[in-house]
Amino acid sequence: KSRLTRTSSTIVDRIENLVPGRTEIDDEMLDEIEEILFAADLGVKTTTEVMDRVRTNLGRRLKVPADLRPFLRDELLSMISVTGSGDDTEVRQPPEVILIIGVNGSGKTTTTGKLAYNYIKQGKKVVLAAADTFRAAAIEQLQMWAERSKAHLIKHQHGADPSAVAYDATKSALSREADILIIDTAGRLHTKSNLMDELGKIARVVSRDIHGAPHETWLVLDGTSGQNALNQARQFLQTVNITGFILTKLDSTSKGGAIISIIRELKVPVKYIGIGEDLEDLQPFDAERFIDAIFG
Ligand code: GDP
Repeated sequence: KSRLTRTSSTIVDRIENLVPGRTEIDDEMLDEIEEILFAADLGVKTTTEVMDRVRTNLGRRLKVPADLRPFLRDELLSMISVTGSGDDTEVRQPPEVILIIGVNGSGKTTTTGKLAYNYIKQGKKVVLAAADTFRAAAIEQLQMWAERSKAHLIKHQHGADPSAVAYDATKSALSREADILIIDTAGRLHTKSNLMDELGKIARVVSRDIHGAPHETWLVLDGTSGQNALNQARQFLQTVNITGFILTKLDSTSKGGAIISIIRELKVPVKYIGIGEDLEDLQPFDAERFIDAIFG
């Protein structure tokens, strides 16, 4: 069962509602479509692009209102298929090191726990580093996730040096022959130099012992914030070399359309999506599966 029902009703139910009793796609209907795309938070740029495609196809693939739904399904899919889907199956010498960054409340710690569970379920050995020593509850929260997912946790005290946590976690991952080391950082943007310093220090520590680490830096974005997530991602990209995004809380928003503009405009792959608060509620992002979940 799809968890994207709120986004789905914002787009598809409303598109379907345009159809009954109408025989042509007129200007009024075009305005309504545009409004629907805005409501799903596709943003100005992506909405404009979709509307251009609609206009170009009027009288061709779009002859009657009933053609709208399949047309939009295909076009939106083609718009996000370019960067490919996010499952990280690249083979590297373990341990693979993943840095998790994002603002407070975006779902960073929860996502770290879900990722650990996801990899452990695949038979991998996971070490978690509680390097978000800034937010008071982050360490205990990660400890709870580590217990639930059966990951090994390395933690220090609240306020400790994040790179010291990363150092211990690196040693632990190597001695345990872990496959994956996931580092939950306090990587938020108070100031750019501050963020760069913190992540730079962590990177230096882990790369000393693990070649090429960190291999991935994933930015966690709150999916309920729609276009704001896009703006936030843009800011982070100016400062950090991000290799993937994770969009959370897509189960509780009608603004899931923002993901389309994020992929389209930022050209960074979405690796996973969060669709609930439980361990299992993380999915590798797959463009087709996502569009199917919305369009049914
Ligand atoms: P952090 O401050 O970035 O580490 O954020 P947390 O991991 O503490 O998450 C903030 C809140 O969002 C918590 O209440 C989580 O349960 C909730 N949350 C995280 N991911 C999801 C998701 O995919 N769906 C829903 N519904 N809630 C989520």
